[in-house]
Amino acid sequence: MSKQAVVLGAGFSGLAVASLLQQQGWQVTLWEKNPEIGGRARLWSHGGYDFDMGPSWYLMPEVFERFFALFGKTPESYYGLTKLQNQYKVFFEGLPSVTVTDDLKATKALFESFERGGAAKLEQFLAEAKLKYDTAMNGFLYKDYRHLGDFLNWTVLTKGPGLGLTGSLDKFVGKRFNDRRSRQILEYAMVFLGSSPANAPALYSLLSHVDLNLGVWFPRGGMNGVAQGLARLFSEAGGTLVTKKEAVGLIVRNGRVERVQSADGEEKSVDLVVNTADYAWSETTLLQPQWQSYPAAYWNQRVLAPSMFLAFLGVNKQIPGLEHHNLYFSADWNQHFKSIFETPAWPQNPCFYLSAITKTDPSMAPSGAENLFLLIPAASGLPDDDDFRSDYLDKALRHVEAVTQTSFRDSIEVQRVFSQRDFQADYHAWKGTGLGLAHTLFQTAIFRPARRSRKVGNLFYTGQYTHPGVGVPMTLISAQVTAQVIERSLKP
Ligand SMILES: Cc1cc2nc3c(=O)[nH]c(=O)nc-3n(C[C@H](O)[C@H](O)[C@H](O)COP(=O)(O)OP(=O)(O)OC[C@H]3O[C@@H](n4cnc5c(N)ncnc54)[C@H](O)[C@@H]3O)c2cc1C
Repeated sequence: MSKQAVVLGAGFSGLAVASLLQQQGWQVTLWEKNPEIGGRARLWSHGGYDFDMGPSWYLMPEVFERFFALFGKTPESYYGLTKLQNQYKVFFEGLPSVTVTDDLKATKALFESFERGGAAKLEQFLAEAKLKYDTAMNGFLYKDYRHLGDFLNWTVLTKGPGLGLTGSLDKFVGKRFNDRRSRQILEYAMVFLGSSPANAPALYSLLSHVDLNLGVWFPRGGMNGVAQGLARLFSEAGGTLVTKKEAVGLIVRNGRVERVQSADGEEKSVDLVVNTADYAWSETTLLQPQWQSYPAAYWNQRVLAPSMFLAFLGVNKQIPGLEHHNLYFSADWNQHFKSIFETPAWPQNPCFYLSAITKTDPSMAPSGAENLFLLIPAASGLPDDDDFRSDYLDKALRHVEAVTQTSFRDSIEVQRVFSQRDFQADYHAWKGTGLGLAHTLFQTAIFRPARRSRKVGNLFYTGQYTHPGVGVPMTLISAQVTAQVIERSLKP
């Protein structure tokens, strides 16, 4: 009889690791607490609108290709993909907006228009970014770090100085570019990894290669379409997915999980548990203190990635002047970062991301309508009651209208705010974080929480808290590495 594995959480990492374990010969049951699958990438359908509730940028397509290739498949066997020509529009405070396209020549011309020599500087910057990306893909991302030696061997001793592990991204970019617009375009992606460019290692300039060389893609059905594809792969592999099934305890005997308890009273015997639910919550809630590798004190000392103020808006008219992806950067965006990482407060004049998915896929809304998704990064753990929400939403929407010079508030027919308390309630997110741990140097690679419990032999972790970290492609990589580690140590 196959050995029984339980995977907790049907986000990207859970769906991915579940298929990989099933392929290894485990009989895998995947428990998801919510009625829908996708985790952060759930879909909320209301009034004819289909809202992707979390990620919306499909980046690093080769990571998805590598993943599906492990099953002899391609991503296209599960969802259609389109490369966006107009990658995103940037609204700069006090300066004209620009659209960044997938035409690198045009992007260089744009940088030249920002500052003299900008095109050549961008070319050089992207060449370095590609080098970092290739090194990371080939030697760094798809790797398990168990000892400091693993990390030091590879990075510091061989390629460290050229990779930018020590200086900050902000300084690295600031030394090369003078114009605020160039700098903001080359640093903004860091915010997606939940960090301030001032605290992130310069290594992350590789994200500009991801953005400007590899491009921004759109999967049919949005990012939840990708999650649905992964769920189909898992079901084809013979696994069992159970939704509305919340784990509430791991019963450990002699250093091994014997049974997993669910909120509806089931106790399932297991040979292996892979947890992808919030790492901090799981360690401190599912396990008795003596089995916790990382107690609450550890998590309280980490730099948390931001939470978010999200608004899903169904607007019953077209909104010209927006692209599919839109970004707003205030002149002094450090004020916003300070309000996240230094003196936690809801940001005033916030930078924001606004998606209008209907610009690419009109089927995500009723005919002639626009499906908007507003994201404002904010510190984790801020007050978030109903009065605050309606007040902040009103201010935020006025701000968005003013920045984008559009008017849509009067045409909103579907509206939902999702923030701190929802991240906590829906995903058990530690202090309401949207993304887990920030990507500071000391929360990178070996410094991220381990993928193997130090105290419980058959308990493993994967997902955005573990190396390589935040973002959909990273969670797929993390799932692959965890599956390899399990295969090496516990093959059924
Ligand atoms: C608003 C937002 C926008 C983002 N934008 C992008 C983007 O554009 N591109 C990108 O690449 N990344 C983006 N990200 C990051 C990316 O979405 C995440 O890093 C990734 O989806 C995390 O996947 P995961 O599997 O680690 O965790 P999750 O998706 O959180 O999955 C964990 C799952 O565990 C479940 N769970 C929790 N507790 C239990 C329990 N007790 N029992 C059973 N199940 C449980 C949860 O319900 C959840 O489904 C974004 C994130 C957010 C929040």
